[in-house]
Amino acid sequence: MKRGGQRVRTAANVHAQFTQADLRAAVAGLRGTVSFQAPLRDYTSFKIGGPADVLVEPADIEDVCLLVQQARARKVPFFVLGGTNLLVRDGGIRGIVISLARLRGIEEEPEFTLYAEGGVGMPTLIGHAIRHSLAGLEWAAGIPGTVAGCVVMNAGTKLGEMKDSIKAVRMVNMKGQVVDVPAARVGFEYRRALLPRGIVVGVWVQLQQGVRSEIGRMVKDYLHSRRDTQPLALPSAGCVFKNPPGDSAGRLIEAAGFKGVRVGDAEVSLKHGNFIVNRGGARAADVIALIGKVRSAIRRRTGVRLDLELKIVGKP
Ligand SMILES: Cc1cc2nc3c(=O)[nH]c(=O)nc-3n(C[C@H](O)[C@H](O)[C@H](O)COP(=O)(O)OP(=O)(O)OC[C@H]3O[C@@H](n4cnc5c(N)ncnc54)[C@H](O)[C@@H]3O)c2cc1C
Repeated sequence: MKRGGQRVRTAANVHAQFTQADLRAAVAGLRGTVSFQAPLRDYTSFKIGGPADVLVEPADIEDVCLLVQQARARKVPFFVLGGTNLLVRDGGIRGIVISLARLRGIEEEPEFTLYAEGGVGMPTLIGHAIRHSLAGLEWAAGIPGTVAGCVVMNAGTKLGEMKDSIKAVRMVNMKGQVVDVPAARVGFEYRRALLPRGIVVGVWVQLQQGVRSEIGRMVKDYLHSRRDTQPLALPSAGCVFKNPPGDSAGRLIEAAGFKGVRVGDAEVSLKHGNFIVNRGGARAADVIALIGKVRSAIRRRTGVRLDLELKIVGKP
């Protein structure tokens, strides 16, 4: 994967050398779910992607620690997904893919703080906040990722960013130990958090006392305006490109006449120029070809280089 022109090695694209026995040893004794050759299209909002050698849904944080220790001991790479900002290539992901779908606890803590386990969906956390009359997450209405994925991406909208709401992050580090990292020690950039290496397994969010009906109304309004402007009925991974400074990627793509342009079943949305939607049978290769076309047209017409917000992972 390229970021800012540099090739970045992640567990999902690193050339991994391990045997089937290593893989089995890495996932031995876990209490969570373990599925070999799991089709990742079933785990991504794009509904695209080849298989994971093995997909693990750890039962709890202890299970995450054990998995990290065993995977490291056997030199098997692992990759964590929520699945809503990802394009998994057609060859799938070698090694272990981890979904935190079973880490779904939410706890109320003093001073209007909520602790959410990493696999809690942002919509679920917002629903919980509304029921407890807690304000401060309305800006995130409509972001479909997990709270952990939202931290890692420093997810945001015109109204706010994850960095504005986080008090601290609980992680499992590369030694398989639980560590808590205060927000002040995390560097946040546009759609990126500079965290220690490891897996985010919990997040403390700082909220304020609010009025339940008002918070609910604001969230409803934001969701309505998203429905009007985004292609929510079709599989996608949200915005493909970051907005260039002082402009909007969607506006540039629309002005270049790219709305509705297709490669295979991948289509630049007719509703929002910065979304690519899967019209049914799109392959990752189609999406990547379409991204290439859009990027080079915008570069030619305007000189602007569009950087990816979408993460592209796995083997071609
Ligand atoms: C319809 C739609 C609308 C969207 N709207 C917005 C929007 O308004 N604003 C916005 O910012 N985004 C938006 N998104 C994109 C997406 O929801 C966010 O980027 C979200 O933060 C991704 O969370 P995720 O859990 O799906 O993570 P993924 O997309 O699976 O992963 C993103 C990155 O985080 C890493 N990661 C995920 N979980 C962990 C973990 N537990 N520990 C360590 N690393 C981890 C992954 O390895 C990957 O590198 C939208 C997506 C869709 C489909």
